[in-house]
Amino acid sequence: MRIAIIGAGIAGLTAAGVLKAAGHQPVIFDKGRGPGGRSVSKRTDHGGIDLGLPYFTARDPAFRQTVDQWIEAGVVAPWSVEPRVLPEQQPARPQARLVAVPRMSALARHLAEGLDLHCSVQVSEITRELTGWVLRERQGESLGEFDGLILTAPAPQSQSLLAEPCPRLAARAATARMQPCWAVGLVLEAPLELGFDAGFPSSGPLGWIARSGSRPERPHLPEIWLLHATAAWSEANIEWSQDAVGEWLTQAFADLINRHPVVTERFVHRWRFARARDALKAEGGYLESEDILCAGDWVSDGTLEGAWQSGRAAAHRLLSRVGAASPVDG
Ligand SMILES: Cc1cc2nc3c(=O)[nH]c(=O)nc-3n(C[C@H](O)[C@H](O)[C@H](O)COP(=O)(O)OP(=O)(O)OC[C@H]3O[C@@H](n4cnc5c(N)ncnc54)[C@H](O)[C@@H]3O)c2cc1C
Repeated sequence: MRIAIIGAGIAGLTAAGVLKAAGHQPVIFDKGRGPGGRSVSKRTDHGGIDLGLPYFTARDPAFRQTVDQWIEAGVVAPWSVEPRVLPEQQPARPQARLVAVPRMSALARHLAEGLDLHCSVQVSEITRELTGWVLRERQGESLGEFDGLILTAPAPQSQSLLAEPCPRLAARAATARMQPCWAVGLVLEAPLELGFDAGFPSSGPLGWIARSGSRPERPHLPEIWLLHATAAWSEANIEWSQDAVGEWLTQAFADLINRHPVVTERFVHRWRFARARDALKAEGGYLESEDILCAGDWVSDGTLEGAWQSGRAAAHRLLSRVGAASPVDG
């Protein structure tokens, strides 16, 4: 069976892994330069800086089992941080937080091993032809014909790809509103002695701050702090320039910690679709219509764990359609 997967984030890579374990060789296309989607890291002279997914959690026993395998493989480690609610510095709700090591992108790279992955390829069109699904890239060139298709792009991108071939799924995708996030990485001249390594500011433009080096296996020489703006602030200022956002959020950080650290370098990233505000929590973990399956965090519960569950569920659904034996532990 010729299977295509659009998107090499955690959902797409998980789906591909399940299909590969069942004897298929799915072809994965991603418009990014490498796999990972929102769980990527920015390459810098100081090593990879995680400007997207800051950490993830594992609640479901099946996912916890998989996380244990990732820990054993050395690609994930627990982050024993005790975030504070700021500025009061009350302890935040305790939670087992996990990160990929030595940078977030390591998890996607691990999942992508041995897969037929084509990066820097943006799928611009999906059409149904007699011989199967035909995918086309931006210049209109065909990327091949496929019998099975799993789409894992964030909801708005899935919506536009689905508008023509599958309006019913496009309408569902339209209801999973996604929120933006401006993220900043600050390289500081000297360590900050704050008495905490991460925090959730309770007011102002920032929603999350963390010291990068407090996470396992991140021996960054300089002090690096990661800042995420709140969804509301990001949405209101989504078209600001990177410089303006960098300056504003650096000032907000200084005001929050009541210090004025010397910033030697700054990295700014705009996530237009960071988190699903109205994730669909679809029954079964996937959406299906016209032979197309949709998966991803927005189909599930808006988390990395949900993306994994959704990708896995979509792959098992595809396998059940072709009558292949699904692997037991996917
Ligand atoms: C700032 C931020 C903070 C977050 N905080 C948390 C948190 O605390 N806890 C948590 O669990 N999760 C968090 N998340 C969410 C988490 O990162 C996602 O739930 C998870 O990574 C989603 O995986 P996915 O595979 O569903 O989607 P993605 O990772 O978005 O993967 C989809 C892929 O599709 C590709 N794509 C899109 N359109 C096309 C196209 N036309 N052609 C080819 N490829 C295409 C994209 O390049 C992307 O690689 C956060 C995310 C961000 C950005």
